[in-house]
Amino acid sequence: MPDFFIGGTWTTARANATREIRCPADGSMVTTVDEGTSEDTEAAIAAARLAFDDGPWPATSPADRGALLDRVADALERHRAEFARAEALDTGKRLVEAEYDLDDIISVFRYYAKLAADVDDRAIDVERSDVESRVVHEPVGVCGLITPWNYPLLQTAWKVAPALAAGNTFVLKPSELTPSTAILLMRELDAAGLPPGVANLVLGTGPNVGALLSTHHDVDLVSFTGGLVTGRIIMAAAAPTVKKVALELGGKNPNIVFADADRDAALDMALTAVFLHSGQVCSAGARLLIEESIHDSFVDELVERARKIRIGGPFDETAETGPLVSEAHRAKVEAYVAAGVAEGAELRCGGARPDAPELANGFYYLPTVFDRCTADMQVVRDESFGPVLTVETFTDEAEALRLANDTDYGLAGAVWTSDAAKADRVAAGLRAGTVWINDYHPYVPQAEWGGYKQSGFGRELGHHGLAEYRETKHIWRNTAPAPQNWFAGE
Ligand code: NAD
Repeated sequence: MPDFFIGGTWTTARANATREIRCPADGSMVTTVDEGTSEDTEAAIAAARLAFDDGPWPATSPADRGALLDRVADALERHRAEFARAEALDTGKRLVEAEYDLDDIISVFRYYAKLAADVDDRAIDVERSDVESRVVHEPVGVCGLITPWNYPLLQTAWKVAPALAAGNTFVLKPSELTPSTAILLMRELDAAGLPPGVANLVLGTGPNVGALLSTHHDVDLVSFTGGLVTGRIIMAAAAPTVKKVALELGGKNPNIVFADADRDAALDMALTAVFLHSGQVCSAGARLLIEESIHDSFVDELVERARKIRIGGPFDETAETGPLVSEAHRAKVEAYVAAGVAEGAELRCGGARPDAPELANGFYYLPTVFDRCTADMQVVRDESFGPVLTVETFTDEAEALRLANDTDYGLAGAVWTSDAAKADRVAAGLRAGTVWINDYHPYVPQAEWGGYKQSGFGRELGHHGLAEYRETKHIWRNTAPAPQNWFAGE
C-alpha cells in the first residue's frame, strides 16, 4: 500500500525508494515505507497550495471544521489500540506510555474542535459614525509541519489540529524513524471527509524532504519541532521567503529541590523528570539542582533507585522504561557521557549499556547520574536527550535561580519547596515557558507550551497554539465616502 498522501490520493515515492522501519527495542522489522525526495515534496506543496487557493476548506465554517476534528477524535478513540501499538513499535516506548499518549492526542483534537469556533474577531470603535472597523482572523495558508521521533503522533497532533481548526492546508513530514502513526492519521483525516489536498504526507529525511518545506515560495508557514541545530538551519532557510516560523526546540531543564521540599515526592519525581522515556523528552528534568544541606542523603537514595530501574521492550509489562530510538542516537549519548567523565563529573551510576543478553539487540542505555557537576561542564550545558542526570548544588535561593537560568535553553523547569512564597518567586524568576511547582511533566491542551531563549519561539497548545495558524486582518469600511481635498491643488 502506498504511504504518501498527496492531493487526496495515496501514492508511492517517485524515485521508488523505500526505508525499513525497525523497532529500537530489538531491531525487528516493523514495516517498509516509501522514502521521498524533493520531487514528492514539490507535488505535495502544489496540492496543498491548490487546496488552499481554490478549495473549500479555508472558507468552511469554523463549526464544520470543528465537527471534522471531532470525527477524527472519535476515530482515534475507536482505533486507539492500533495507533498505540504502531507508536510503540516505531519508538520502542512501552505500550502503556503509547496508550497514554493516544489519550492526550485525542484530547488535543477535542480541544481544537471546540476552539475552532472561537474566531476571536472583533469590532473596533473608532469614534466615527461613518466608519465600521473590524479585526478578523484568517488561515495563514500552506503550512509545512516537521516533527520529531520521541512523541511522533503527539507532536503531530499539536500542529495538525490547530492548523485544520484555523482553515489551513498542510504538508506533514514526520521523522523518518517513526512514520507509522502519521500514515494512520492521514487515513482517518481522509475518512473523516477532509477535502483533497488539505492534508498531505511525504516521508523521508530532513535534507531530502523537510528542507524544501522551509525554503519553498508557496509554503506560508513552517512549524518545526526538533533539535536546536536543525531549528537554526530551518530558521535561516525560511528567511529568503520571509515565511512564518514556529520553533519548538530542545531543553536542558532545571529541577530545583530545596531542603524544605516534600522529600519523598521530590525524590520520586526527580527520577520521573529525567528517566521517563529514557530521557527522550524535550522537557526532561536533566539538571537536578539540590540544596547542599540535603545533597548527600537525597542523591544517595536517588542513585540507588536509578540503579533499580527496570529496562525492557514495549510489551514487557515489568519494564519501567525502554530503549533509545536508534543506534546513532545511543552513540551520541555515549559520546556525551564520555565527555562528562573526561571533564571530571562524578559518575555515580549507569554510564554503560545494560549487560542483560535479552536486551543485546536493542539500543538500551542505563540510567546515568553524574554528581558534583559544575555549570561550565558540557554535560550540564548540552542536551543529551538520553537517560542522563547531572547534579549541582546551591546554598540559597538566589544561587538556585542563577544556576537554573545559566543555560541557552528555556523550555521548562520545576521547583520543589513547602514555602509557597519562595515557590512563586522562583517560578517568576525562571526564564522558561513552563514551570512546575512541586510537580514535574504534566501539561494540558488548554495551556500554551513552548520555549524561551534558544528553546524556540511561538507556542503550541492553548489559544496561542491556534493563533500561530491565523493571520490577522483589519477591515475598515467608510460608509459615507467623500472627497477629503488633502491635495486641493490650490
Ligand atoms: P531533529 O532536529 O534531528 O529532527 C526533527 C525533524 O526535523 C525530523 O523530522 C527530521 O527529519 C527533520 N529535519 C532534519 N534536518 C532537517 C532540515 N535540514 N530541514 C528540515 N527538516 C529537517 O530532532 P529529533 O532528533 O527528531 O528530535 C529530538 C529533538 O527534538 C530534541 O532536541 C528535543 O528536545 C526536541 N523536541 C522538542 C520538543 C518541544 O516541544 N520543544 C518536543 C519534542 C522534541
